[in-house]
Amino acid sequence: MADRTVNSPILALAPFTFGENSDWLSSIAAARSIAQTNHSVEAILAGSASTEAADAAFAAGADKVWFASHPNLEIPADPGQITEAFAQTLALPAFTGFRLALVPLGPIGDLIGASLAQRLDIAMLGFCSAITLDDSGIHAKRASHGGRAGITVTSNTASVASLRAPKIDDTAVRRGLVTRITLTGDLPAPMSLSLQDSGVQNASLEGARLIVSGGRGIGGPEGFIQLNELAASLGGALGGSLPSVDAGWVPVFRQVGQSGKFVTPDIYVAVGISGTPQHMAGIGLHTRIVAINKDAEADIFRFAELGVVADWQDILPALIEKLNQKGEASKI
Ligand SMILES: Cc1cc2nc3c(=O)[nH]c(=O)nc-3n(C[C@H](O)[C@H](O)[C@H](O)COP(=O)(O)OP(=O)(O)OC[C@H]3O[C@@H](n4cnc5c(N)ncnc54)[C@H](O)[C@@H]3O)c2cc1C
Repeated sequence: MADRTVNSPILALAPFTFGENSDWLSSIAAARSIAQTNHSVEAILAGSASTEAADAAFAAGADKVWFASHPNLEIPADPGQITEAFAQTLALPAFTGFRLALVPLGPIGDLIGASLAQRLDIAMLGFCSAITLDDSGIHAKRASHGGRAGITVTSNTASVASLRAPKIDDTAVRRGLVTRITLTGDLPAPMSLSLQDSGVQNASLEGARLIVSGGRGIGGPEGFIQLNELAASLGGALGGSLPSVDAGWVPVFRQVGQSGKFVTPDIYVAVGISGTPQHMAGIGLHTRIVAINKDAEADIFRFAELGVVADWQDILPALIEKLNQKGEASKI
């Protein structure tokens, strides 16, 4: 059996039965970023084995891949089933004494992580910005006080964690050992869901490197069409503050903040957003903020690296046009 003490492998739990949602690879990339040369990374993929999935897991940073399959694991599987599949896998002798298992960062990953931690009676370290391991424990950094301060939590027990993943180099070619496990314990019945195509093709907030977000200052749904256009031309995702969600200008799954999503893009463009603590609580410590606000005294400028004091209507259309021209020029 592998040495699962201080230098034990870091496990990456990858619920790849979510199909085309490539976020499942992020736990592997996050594990690789912690492992460096001191630990190996073992990816546990819940779902039936496929060469493509194994190749993607190796490219994302795995040294070894385990496929944990179960005849009743639905595709796409729901979080309850995946949690149970991971719990059964981690109970196998091969994983006795594991120290750290990563889940993908995001609402589903964190739901699986928290449920798994409760099921296995271990710690859950969610929304981490950095993790280090040494003899004294697992040290997890995360934002606190509305994102304006950072704290380090130390866990001395086996832990599940979610951590922002670095960009995956999907051209990397790596190979390693693939082992298949067939789980035989009971799985909960899947949730009864009927899937409907929303017709929305936009990038999700989870894993976005750039987010363009609008607040009450946008004043109506038409402005969000422009924000969406800007987000799309920059290859980013659209977000919004609570008032813009309440007004129905942007869907609730795009709300950033204390009661919305925690996002960690490289760049967050805040337009018509005042910068309340409840909104800022949803933005990672290392994110660079660009703000457009007509009030020079708005709090958002205290957090912004780049601020424009202006009415967004004087800035956005010209910016979008410029970007579109650039896009057209690059096609010629
Ligand atoms: C328990 C709790 C949880 C909460 N959770 C969240 C949360 O998850 N997310 C969240 O966002 N809020 C949350 N809130 C609400 C929060 O307190 C604020 O009300 C909210 O963040 C303000 O949103 P805003 O910045 O869009 O609006 P405002 O604070 O009204 O700011 C609008 C800004 O737009 C600017 N503006 C106006 N017109 C223009 C223009 N034409 N061009 C440029 N700028 C313009 C104004 O100068 C102003 O700064 C929560 C509150 C509570 C109590």
